[in-house]
Amino acid sequence: MEIIIGRDSQSAKLLLTVDGKPQAPVASGEVPASVAPQHCKLFINKGQLRLKNLDINNYTYVNDQSIESKAISQHDKIELGTSRYLLDWNHLKPYLPVDIRPLKEVWENYEAQNLKLQIKERKFNALRSATGLITMVAIVLSIAGGGRNKWNLALYGVAIAISVVFFIKAYLDSSKLPQKRQELSKQFQHDYICPSCGHFMGNQSYDILTQNGSCPYCKKTFHT
Ligand SMILES: [Zn+2]
Repeated sequence: MEIIIGRDSQSAKLLLTVDGKPQAPVASGEVPASVAPQHCKLFINKGQLRLKNLDINNYTYVNDQSIESKAISQHDKIELGTSRYLLDWNHLKPYLPVDIRPLKEVWENYEAQNLKLQIKERKFNALRSATGLITMVAIVLSIAGGGRNKWNLALYGVAIAISVVFFIKAYLDSSKLPQKRQELSKQFQHDYICPSCGHFMGNQSYDILTQNGSCPYCKKTFHT
C-alpha cells in the first residue's frame, strides 16, 4: 500500500491519497502552505513502513532529522515543511498494520493451560487404572494363597479404601475437568481475536498468524 501525504490546496486540509485514490481531506486543523500537495509518500509492506520525501523542495523530518527516504515506525515523530507541521498518526491509523504482538502471550498461555489439563486427565486415568491393578493383585494373591491370611486381608482393605477414594474423586472430577476445559476455551475465544475486526482467530498458532501476515476476515495487515 502507498499513501501520498500532502496538503489539499483548496481546503488547506491534510490530504491522503491511498493507492492512487484521494480520500476526503482530514477535517481537523489547517495545514501550512509549506506542505506541498504531494509532499511525501508512505510505503506499507508486510508491516514495514518507509517514508519517502517526494521533492527536493519539500522538507520531511523524522524525529527532527531531515530525510529523503527512511524506514520508520508508528512511534516516530513526523513533521512536514519548513514550518514543521506535525503529522498526527491517528489520521493514518485506518491504513496502518495492526499490532498483534499481545496475541503471542494469549496463545502461549492457552497452550500451557491446555497441556496442564491434559496432564491432569492422564494422571487421573493412570491412578484409576492403578487402583484396578491393586484390586486384581489382591484377588490373584488370595487365590494363590488358597485362604485368608492377614496379608490378603490387608491388601483387600487397602484396595477397597483406594477404590472408594477414587470413586469419590472420579465423581467430583467428572464434571470439574470438562468444565475447566470449557472455561479455558471460552476465555481463549474471547481473547484471541483480531485487534482490528474482533473476529476469533481460530486454533491457528501465533506463528501461523505471523506467517499469514494479515487477518483472513478484515484483510488488515498484521504488525508482528
Ligand atoms: Zn480482522
